[in-house]
Amino acid sequence: MRAFTYSAPASVAATVDALRAARPGTRILAGGTTLFDLMKLGIETPPSVIDVHRLPGFDTIEAGARELVLGAGARMSDVAAHPAVQDGYPALSESLWRAATQQLRNMATVGGNLLQRTRCAYFRGGQEFPCNKRNPGSGCAAIGGHDRGHALLGGSTSCIATYAGDFAIALIAFDAVVDVTGPHGDRSVPVGELHVEPGDDPTREHVLAQDELIVRIRVPVTPAGRGSTYLKIRDRESYAFALTSAAVGLAFDAAGRIGECRIGLGGVATRPWRAREAEQGLLGQPLTPETARRAGETAFAAARPGTHNGFRVELGIRTVADALRVAGERAIG
Ligand code: SF4
Repeated sequence: MRAFTYSAPASVAATVDALRAARPGTRILAGGTTLFDLMKLGIETPPSVIDVHRLPGFDTIEAGARELVLGAGARMSDVAAHPAVQDGYPALSESLWRAATQQLRNMATVGGNLLQRTRCAYFRGGQEFPCNKRNPGSGCAAIGGHDRGHALLGGSTSCIATYAGDFAIALIAFDAVVDVTGPHGDRSVPVGELHVEPGDDPTREHVLAQDELIVRIRVPVTPAGRGSTYLKIRDRESYAFALTSAAVGLAFDAAGRIGECRIGLGGVATRPWRAREAEQGLLGQPLTPETARRAGETAFAAARPGTHNGFRVELGIRTVADALRVAGERAIG
């Protein structure tokens, strides 16, 4: 790991001042569970890091009548275990429980979790592999290579790396928004617009500037929050990334038909993926094994498998159908 300077401002305002004066390449340090890994691998080589994980008021969890507000510095484990999250948004809680080991959940923050980087083995593996994300213009070893875990949706001819997070999948389903601040002021960004597809430039993964800090995440209250689940399918039942996942929220109308439907897909795309056509197709329908299956097929209609990842299309369809069944039971119960 290369030498770097470290600072820990005492407030958000002081952090913004530090970001204003920061050298290019400076990184914000929250839980550190991703950044230190990447620094040890030589992928991230910041000249300095600005530690925000002890900022006062940065880790609050507030459940209001209109929205749930999570401080960006709240620990994943604290958010997952909070009664308002468990009751009002089981999908959010489950996406966090299933995201990592207990030790990592105790360290990692929800804000940092949103910006975690891909687990593509070529990206993390070393300089011997061509990787447009790590060395722009060098090529992509995953395309035509070992792509079992790579993206089915949202890829480009430059990169097919999968977005690895779970929490963002549940957030995107519920139209969550992040509030950010920085030397150029405050702004809000829908989580659905936070991450970008690789296109011609896989080095760009999200729309935030290097000197912008996520301060909170806001999740609107909605009936489908209670009738929700996060289903994650992986090679082993813990400490593994998703082969496929689905965050689903449902609410029924008085006639027992689907009145609200939310579907986010994880583990299968280059960014958190909202399956809006599948949602639309279910509105006004009864929830049956057939309509659930059809929604899964719609969600994966645009999938573009590579060499070794085609099995995850059918797996993804079944994941959506199963998640709809669980969400439906919760919405009724
Ligand atoms: Fe690099 Fe993306 Fe290709 Fe992986 S998929 S090797 S991150 S360019």
